[in-house]
Amino acid sequence: MSHRRRTRILATLGPATDGPGVLDALLAAGVDAVRLNFSHGDPSAQVARAQAVRVAAERVGVEVGILADLPGPKLRIERFAEGRVRLQAGQRFDLVARADAPPGDASQVGISYLGLPGDVRTGDILLLDDGLVQLQVERVEGERIVTTVLNDATLSDRKGLNRHGGGLSLGALTERDRELIGVAARIGADFIAVSFCRDAADIEEARAIARAAGSDAALVAKIERAEAIANLAGIIDAADVVMVARGDLGVEIGDAELPGLQKKIIRETLQRNKVVITATQMLQSMVDSPIPTRAEVLDVANSVIDGTDAVMLSQETAAGNWPVKAVEAMARICVGAERQFDHDTDFEAAPRNLERADQAIAMAAMFLTEHIGVRAIVAMTESGGTARYLSRFRSASPIYALSRHAGARRRMALMRDVFPIAFDSRGLGSREAAREALRVLYGQGLLAAGDRVVVTSGDHMERHGATNTLRLLQVGPDGRAEGLGDL
Ligand code: PGA
Ligand code: MN
Repeated sequence: MSHRRRTRILATLGPATDGPGVLDALLAAGVDAVRLNFSHGDPSAQVARAQAVRVAAERVGVEVGILADLPGPKLRIERFAEGRVRLQAGQRFDLVARADAPPGDASQVGISYLGLPGDVRTGDILLLDDGLVQLQVERVEGERIVTTVLNDATLSDRKGLNRHGGGLSLGALTERDRELIGVAARIGADFIAVSFCRDAADIEEARAIARAAGSDAALVAKIERAEAIANLAGIIDAADVVMVARGDLGVEIGDAELPGLQKKIIRETLQRNKVVITATQMLQSMVDSPIPTRAEVLDVANSVIDGTDAVMLSQETAAGNWPVKAVEAMARICVGAERQFDHDTDFEAAPRNLERADQAIAMAAMFLTEHIGVRAIVAMTESGGTARYLSRFRSASPIYALSRHAGARRRMALMRDVFPIAFDSRGLGSREAAREALRVLYGQGLLAAGDRVVVTSGDHMERHGATNTLRLLQVGPDGRAEGLGDL
């Protein structure tokens, strides 16, 4: 059987994916989940995209996760009278924290966060537009921050603003984020991403609001500010999924720290049995070009070798000239990297605490796949929990995760090595369910006669976390399950 891609692709939707046929082509090219970026445009555009995704997924015959990405408290400058200004190194430029600040010019511009003058000190470096423009704070005069421009640059409306070193005292969930969680609930988002989260409490609060709004979305913690690095373990435990948000993180902490942080976040997330996305500028040059640079190929491949579950496309698909080619390139690079991935040398199996029966079963299943060689692991899972534990080991064997819940299957869309499959085991005992599962997988061409498989299941499959059984089976000539004697 040929190698099926294991690393998951998350693609951001935007104007470039709205054209006729583009969405279908993206899904056919292998997108596993889409991101709706609520920082841009009217929410109604994102609602329309969510509906279009569900329709296209049905048409293409795939199941696709939808991730609603909240704007968070991103600081921005306001607008300029002329749309943009030219700044020169050495000149004075003021940031004005006043709701009625006039439109900006080459001497000053308004800022969205009125508390900023209280948060900055003389000598601080403020970074605008992902670091393209650097300002050094000279002094604060009431509502006015007086700075010196450090480099020649063009600055345009509504660009983002970060402080080098982080520490700007904004909460993670704004009023607008709270409203948008309601929108995410209404469109049935499978994931909700919290931008600029600082600690576990930010994630717990977002989860509580989502649940109150009737959403069972998985919570994604975007690691993109200095405080989040300090509170990393707590954030991972509170979240379902973690994103290495390299755009803002690189600005706040400095780009030279990114390679080490990416590896640390991926390692720690897997160790804590959660799912991790690597994001931003992965194939940036493909906004304009039909092929990636060699450096981008290496970056995507290295994130796969670091162990990431999913890779993300931002502008490449949302606003680029080659959205489908970007997905195709991503898929191709992931498959190549997976072939080169050496489980023994590239992946340091972390020491794990066994806290639950389903974790213990997952561990035992992995022992079998490594020691006697099995074609696949088949997980009968209600919520996807068992599949998640299994997939943390980066095994050579694919994990077929059988669940009757479409929502649970879509929430597994970002897990590496996991292939969610619709299967209803209600009414079957766990032994019959295992046999029936093998027949289904054989029928879909995913298993062949002679294959050995490990099947995990529970006595009470209607209950979450009930996995307590592991079966070692062999596929017979007609897809029938046979016991296994000699190994
Ligand atoms: P963004 O998040 O694209 O919403 O800014 C990702 C990042 O900062 O890397
Ligand atoms: Mn960001």
